[in-house]
Amino acid sequence: NVRTRFAPSPTGSLHLGSLRTALYNYLFARSNGGLFVLRIEDTDQKRRIPGSEQEIYQVLRRFHIDWDEGPSHETSWNNRDGPYGPYIQSQRLSLYQKYAEQLINQGRAYRCFCSTERLQKMQSIARKIGSSGSYDRHCMSLTSEQVLELRGQNVPYVIRAKMPDKMTSFNDSVYGCLSPGSSKRSTATPTAFHDDFVIMKSDGFPTYHFANVVDDHEMHITHVIRGAEWIPSTYKHMELYRAFDWKPPQFAHLPLLFNKDGSKLSKRQNHAHVQHLLSDGFMPEAVLNHVALMGWSGKGKVSDFLQMDDMIRLFSLKEITKGSVTVDLGKLEFLNKHHLAHKAETQAGCFELAKEALPLLQKQYTVKDSDLEIIAKWVFLLRKRIRKLENLPGLMSYVFEKPQWSTSELEEWKRNLEPFTSVDILCDMIEGMDREPTWHEDNIHHIVERVSKAHEDIPAKFMYAIIRFAVCGNTPGAGIINTIHLLGKAETMERMETLLD
Ligand code: GLU
Repeated sequence: NVRTRFAPSPTGSLHLGSLRTALYNYLFARSNGGLFVLRIEDTDQKRRIPGSEQEIYQVLRRFHIDWDEGPSHETSWNNRDGPYGPYIQSQRLSLYQKYAEQLINQGRAYRCFCSTERLQKMQSIARKIGSSGSYDRHCMSLTSEQVLELRGQNVPYVIRAKMPDKMTSFNDSVYGCLSPGSSKRSTATPTAFHDDFVIMKSDGFPTYHFANVVDDHEMHITHVIRGAEWIPSTYKHMELYRAFDWKPPQFAHLPLLFNKDGSKLSKRQNHAHVQHLLSDGFMPEAVLNHVALMGWSGKGKVSDFLQMDDMIRLFSLKEITKGSVTVDLGKLEFLNKHHLAHKAETQAGCFELAKEALPLLQKQYTVKDSDLEIIAKWVFLLRKRIRKLENLPGLMSYVFEKPQWSTSELEEWKRNLEPFTSVDILCDMIEGMDREPTWHEDNIHHIVERVSKAHEDIPAKFMYAIIRFAVCGNTPGAGIINTIHLLGKAETMERMETLLD
């Protein structure tokens, strides 16, 4: 049975690459009838940033990336435990300790009491001679008596894994056979330095590599889908699986993300952060759609516009691209516009959008909370024009602000409409509206038709232009009949009269 996991570290705000990792693992589990696990990797206590664990829960929730097993405390949203918990690494310390002891007993790991100064010196020598390893195995030959003595003296120590001189290759679902020599300087020539990396730190916490492998094994993870930046770590992980004689999961690494200018997408860039995009007014549906296509070709899709159901139906690891991926915010805007228009097709959707837009509108105009219903109607009317919810206040300016016309604009308006006499037409419209008891789109249409007939059958588009200029000025907007219908009879007439004054 397929079991995937998302294993973020709470070290800062979630970025696009992480959201993609979460999504792909989720999609792969869902499309294979498997389970999706959430695990918090908080073993690097120094890099921990308060609040980021909560942000992970919140973001996943907003995107409906629902996990089947995961942290079970209150704030984790679905409060779902599972048979292999706890799902927060800092709560599993004794487990790592146990497995580290096991490796020591098997001769696959050893305690290292070297001081920081000694290690630093060694590292700089290793770098100078171009070695990828950095430890001279000074402590590997300590006798058990010596170890006991040092421990008795409370000398701090770490536990190191004993690595072979040459790490072996592994088969990746996306990149095929990957071997360490292909990406880095060859480690084939044995040097005095070894890549005996630390698996347990002196504070009793495991390192990422160790906890990651132990937990993927303990949690029965079958597929590990993660960014290509983890490929160098995977060689180490494979050695740990070998040392334990455990079956490794199937790895699938995802192409790196780049900016349009070719630079690597970095955590320092605002648009790389999920929360930033959301607060910038992009809809979760659009961000998710965008992220889904960052490295997955979506074979069989009818268009780029994808909802979660489509993604689950279509997702396959076979179509992950190897080449680097360019993050293009223009595309996100395009998708956002689509998702917005789609959502606004239903009344409930319009309401939700209106609710979200309310604070934005209140920043610029006097809008009451109770205006929600009418705003939902405007959202429906303007749905095809909104790229981002942020644009709504701008698009609605003519709703809240009466038009103003300069003398030259007025003159141009009159001139443009010649030989029709716009002033007369407007007067007749006002009169027609005044007499009309029901303010409904059909009735407004009839008034327009009647007035047009009375003026030598002036074409509808001229009629609309006249009305729009009077009611909205030069601001473009939704269909003018719908617009004045929503604006209301009194407001429409008042604006028309002001123009005539
Ligand atoms: N904790 C790692 C991270 O922050 C997980 C990497 C992995 O998926 O193995 O991304």
